[in-house]
Amino acid sequence: MKKITEVRVPNIGDFEDVVVIEVMVSVGAEIKKEDPLITLESDKASMDIPSPCDGVVKEVFIKDGDTVSEDTLIMNVEEDASGEDSKPSEEAPAEAAQVTTSNADLHGEVVVLGGGPGGYTAAFRAADLGKKTIIIENSPNMGGVCLNVGCIPSKVLLHMAKIVDEAMEADKLGIAFKAPELNVDKMQGWKDDVISQLVGGLASMAGQRNITVVKGTGTFVSPGEIKVTGEEPDQVVSFDNAIIAAGSHPIMIPGFPEDERIVDSTGALSLKEIPKRMLIVGGGIIGLEMATVYHALGSEVTVVEAKEQLIPGADTDLIRPLHTYVKKRFKNILLETSVTSLTPQDSGIKADFEGKNAITAEEYDIVLVAVGRKPNSKGLGLEEAGVELDGFGHIKVDHQLRTNVNRIFAVGDIVGAPMLAHKASYEGKIAAEVAAGLNSSFDDAVIPSIAYTDPEIAWVGLTERDAKAKKLDFSKAVFPWSASGRSLTMGRKEGKTKVIFDKATGRVIGAGIVGSNASELIAEMVLSIEMGCNAEDLSLTVHPHPTLAESISFSAEIFEGTITDLYLPKRK
Ligand code: NAD
Repeated sequence: MKKITEVRVPNIGDFEDVVVIEVMVSVGAEIKKEDPLITLESDKASMDIPSPCDGVVKEVFIKDGDTVSEDTLIMNVEEDASGEDSKPSEEAPAEAAQVTTSNADLHGEVVVLGGGPGGYTAAFRAADLGKKTIIIENSPNMGGVCLNVGCIPSKVLLHMAKIVDEAMEADKLGIAFKAPELNVDKMQGWKDDVISQLVGGLASMAGQRNITVVKGTGTFVSPGEIKVTGEEPDQVVSFDNAIIAAGSHPIMIPGFPEDERIVDSTGALSLKEIPKRMLIVGGGIIGLEMATVYHALGSEVTVVEAKEQLIPGADTDLIRPLHTYVKKRFKNILLETSVTSLTPQDSGIKADFEGKNAITAEEYDIVLVAVGRKPNSKGLGLEEAGVELDGFGHIKVDHQLRTNVNRIFAVGDIVGAPMLAHKASYEGKIAAEVAAGLNSSFDDAVIPSIAYTDPEIAWVGLTERDAKAKKLDFSKAVFPWSASGRSLTMGRKEGKTKVIFDKATGRVIGAGIVGSNASELIAEMVLSIEMGCNAEDLSLTVHPHPTLAESISFSAEIFEGTITDLYLPKRK
């Protein structure tokens, strides 16, 4: 029996009037289910719209260059509705994936708990490997902390801060701007738009992969089942393999009172007005990124850090240029100091300090507490599943991200530091591949770290401190950006590029960069370590001039003693 199926644009996220850049089939074409029919290009990505069925194209209603939105009719396809492969297009593919076992309402070959970068990457990879995949997510949107209340919104605000800072700094170049007028509602709206574009993209990609997204909070009730509770009636999801990607949450210091003026990173990203006086407890990455934003937007910023340097994990020589730069801009940087109490008052939050650089009590309009994050391992029913934790509440996993329970994996913040989105997604892919029967593993991958401060700081592989602690025979080469033409053209000279080489082989074993665009430059160093590059590989690679990237080959030349862009006295 033949029937005509209308093919329409599926939910492609929060997009309207997306351009058709290619119609790949014409009338009479025989097509198979999942064959690409048209390619759309939005400002975020290009995407193919696949055929929902096998059949023959009878009519095509669009052409290259047209614009389409969700539900636009693309073409009519005649399909053979009598055969096994010719199910009507209305049949939700996700439901086809739902083969239930035991008392479960749903069954997935791979069930992913949490839809952040670790979780959605794992789910997408598992689905692409042919597994019937379910994601359980308790927030309204996928994307997790990174996309909704972390990396992405903070980068939007940092971009705004950069615009303001550069406009103000331009005075010394002979270009004077008036002080900016900030419309905080509009700024928040812009940020929310960016998030919704990305969130829409994820929802659409999950749909294109026939992944079932179950809304609610998942709790293991056995080593093979997860109960999901939420707004919908409770349901039980059984699985062949589960991947736990439930993330982490900010630590709040015990004893600090509850007050809407005392916020964590989520609160700091959604302030309705720019505070005049801001205290930031914790001089780590979140604290300093938010300090960068709010200083540029006009706040008087004080940072309190318990350790002896800002961003204690990074090498001191990389932090020094940042410290010098922000010291002139922030009201106070109090190292080796902590806040002993916060007292809400009508006029602000009073903070008391103790430690090496303690000041007398002061009042602030907003206090951001950014002293680290904790894994979300409580309340997941891990005991029922038999999954073991370490002493910090992280799930213990092996190099294939497998927990002590054979068919349960865990990825991302919940398995421990570094709590970074790119580590989570890398792990998510590996876990999905192993769950699908491939022999993937995390061995020897290096994870870059970045602080999007001004100047930016990025590092990867061994720090100089690590290399010394391990008593390695290493050499470091540092190229100062005061000798970089490109850096000077940008009005900045405080940066530096440091590469750590194994002395005997010249192989790159670590690198750190401080300066504008360090976040982008570090990628070359990550690749260098992954590829086993040595100094000669870097120095013989022609780097374009004038660029900041040249500083990498210059560092290699310093190691080799061949640099001409600096004068270094001969080694004796
Ligand atoms: P963090 O661990 O990076 O920094 C917290 C800082 O607070 C540390 O320097 C610590 O010494 C200090 N501290 C702890 N207790 C204190 C106290 N009582 N008083 C004063 N200082 C105190 O944690 P974070 O900045 O909250 O970030 C959390 C996680 O999120 C980190 O793993 C971070 O890498 C990650 N993150 C990454 C990025 C990025 O990649 N750009 C951005 C934001 C967050």
